[in-house]
Amino acid sequence: MRINSIMYHDVVRSGDFASSGFAGAHADIYKLDATLFEEHLKTLATDGIESLNVGQIDEDKLARTVAITFDDGGESAYTVAADILEKYGFHGHFFIATDFIDTDTFLKTRQIRELHARGHIIGSHSASHPTRMAYCTEEEMRREWRTSTEKLADITGGAGTVASVPGGYFSRQVAETAAECGIRILFNSEPVTKVYDVNGCSVLGRFTIKQDTPAETVRRIASGNMSYRLGQFAFWNTKKAAKSLGGELYLSLTRKYLAK
Ligand SMILES: [Zn+2]
Repeated sequence: MRINSIMYHDVVRSGDFASSGFAGAHADIYKLDATLFEEHLKTLATDGIESLNVGQIDEDKLARTVAITFDDGGESAYTVAADILEKYGFHGHFFIATDFIDTDTFLKTRQIRELHARGHIIGSHSASHPTRMAYCTEEEMRREWRTSTEKLADITGGAGTVASVPGGYFSRQVAETAAECGIRILFNSEPVTKVYDVNGCSVLGRFTIKQDTPAETVRRIASGNMSYRLGQFAFWNTKKAAKSLGGELYLSLTRKYLAK
């Protein structure tokens, strides 16, 4: 099975990147202005592409659907993104780092409950958002998945079976521990569409959307344009190689680069 998925973070108004989610230059790269976000969705809708709900997959329609996902649980999911999604008949998958719920720039408990009631999918993005999830011990991974899924199940009354991996640091153990904790669908950040199974948990890739990603790029990803995908895949593999060479080095290079 192949599923098209895109990964957003925060959607903010008037370029106010500090208003939602994690702070800092590294986080801002993945935050979009609402005007551009709306242009993305309008382009998809005009092209007849529908949003996918991973809880209700219609295999006949997969080629013309895209799973629209949002990481971190910044408050803009409720204050900005959900209204725009609904305007175009789309729904979102909101993945929440649960330790941050009810803090300043993150979603509040009642907002999560309302998003769920409005038909959006609520999932875990770990509890503490570890900088490098794949480097956690298995016990730490289990604790991240269990704490966060239980908290979300408490809030929504749902089952807590959908999640995304924080920071893009993925390994087989990350999926195995998720499966042990009852997660049935796990999104990572690899730019692929092929779905595979780890102990009963389906692992899905995603294409990363950044602050300046044009609507045409999003349209191509959502309708299966492979040339764009191959470009992002080559970049991803370089990045992954850098990460496995030394996580510390990769992180410090990233920070150095961003500080410029
Ligand atoms: Zn994240």
